[in-house]
Amino acid sequence: MLTVKSARNIIFEHCSRITPESLACATVLIQEAFQRVLAEEVRVDRDYPPFARSMRDGYALLARDVQQVPVDLTCIGEIRAGDDSELELHAKEAVQIMTGATVPRTADTVVMVESTERISQDTVRILKAPSPGDNVARKGSERIAGEPVLSPFSVIGPFAMAVLASVGKSRVRVVRKPTIGILSTGDELVEIQVIPGPGKIRNSNSSSLYAQVLRGGGIPVLLRTARDEVSDLKEQIRKGLETDVLLVNGGVSVGKYDLVEPVFAELGIEIHFESVAMRPGQPSVFATRGAKWVFGLPGNPVSTFVAFELFVRPVLRALQGLKYDSLPLVPAVLETEIVEKSGRTAFLPAMLSRSQAGFVVKPVQWKGAADIFSATEANSLIIVPLEATRVFPGELVEVLAFEECDSQSEGVF
Ligand code: AMP
Ligand code: MG
Repeated sequence: MLTVKSARNIIFEHCSRITPESLACATVLIQEAFQRVLAEEVRVDRDYPPFARSMRDGYALLARDVQQVPVDLTCIGEIRAGDDSELELHAKEAVQIMTGATVPRTADTVVMVESTERISQDTVRILKAPSPGDNVARKGSERIAGEPVLSPFSVIGPFAMAVLASVGKSRVRVVRKPTIGILSTGDELVEIQVIPGPGKIRNSNSSSLYAQVLRGGGIPVLLRTARDEVSDLKEQIRKGLETDVLLVNGGVSVGKYDLVEPVFAELGIEIHFESVAMRPGQPSVFATRGAKWVFGLPGNPVSTFVAFELFVRPVLRALQGLKYDSLPLVPAVLETEIVEKSGRTAFLPAMLSRSQAGFVVKPVQWKGAADIFSATEANSLIIVPLEATRVFPGELVEVLAFEECDSQSEGVF
């Protein structure tokens, strides 16, 4: 059976055909740019800082006047942040200055107010000798006009938002978010607001997939649940092919009414793999039709989740121009013993936390791949390699952390 690694490699190979030029872009207002992927190079529009800026509230002066302290200087005025001051400073003079204000051209240093004493309206006493240049951010010392500052295909975080604002970009070119169709299948499924009749359950996978798509930067498109019947599946899959990536959920196993794969074949959807040596998530299907990406995800809720993280997420990233071929793995010390059958890579829902000595992890008690209730207690998946059958407490394991991981770990502060 195909290993997880080989399966991911097949997906990566398809991803590698996506070129930066082929990605669709859009221009959005800066307020809508947060966490989007930048599609342009951003350069600074002028020198930063644009003028010699005081980094402190204090006194601007000449360092050579205050090498012997205490020493009294004549205070010739003040400069506030935002002032366009023409004040000229001469030997033995000081100017009171505020943080963010322009340091006079003839001054070279700012002594912070805490190291001074105002003796009178006209005199300030300097108590500590500064080094020349202290507390002055020289014009252009951070960036020179025209220098690149944000590269294309980086995710826009809070500091990048600040940079965009500083350089005057109220509109930003970003990569278009891919649309991801979510198609659940199964005669047993009813919608959330319905009271399930005998033998029925509510469709929960569409909601977890919806969240995973959003978290991955895609636009989820929910399709009507398809019945386990060729014509209905065909109709819904056809509709789903209008999106960039279609996730067909359930109906990919070996049951008599698992009809998704034959329907893929009928619709000319080419299957690249249909089974992976993993637990949970073995019946995972990856297929394409032209430029469309199609996945068949196993119906069990935890299986669906795991298959998405391993196989769909890379595609979502690639379609946004992001690096797609690595997983956010954390090495952690195992706290309780794991016993697993060999032959399939296991992904066990687990709680990862930070101790004084580093990361520690333990599997949550779960009742198998349908048990979403236990899975809510997990913030990660422990990866048990294919060949391992037993892993002992104290051993180092690889852990695939979910994004919530940080908020749930025991902080060190
Ligand atoms: P299947 O892969 O269609 O054989 O489904 C495997 C198991 O997952 C069955 O117990 C299904 O009832 C369950 N299942 C399938 N789809 C969903 C869904 N959308 N939400 C919740 N459970 C599901
Ligand atoms: Mg089914």
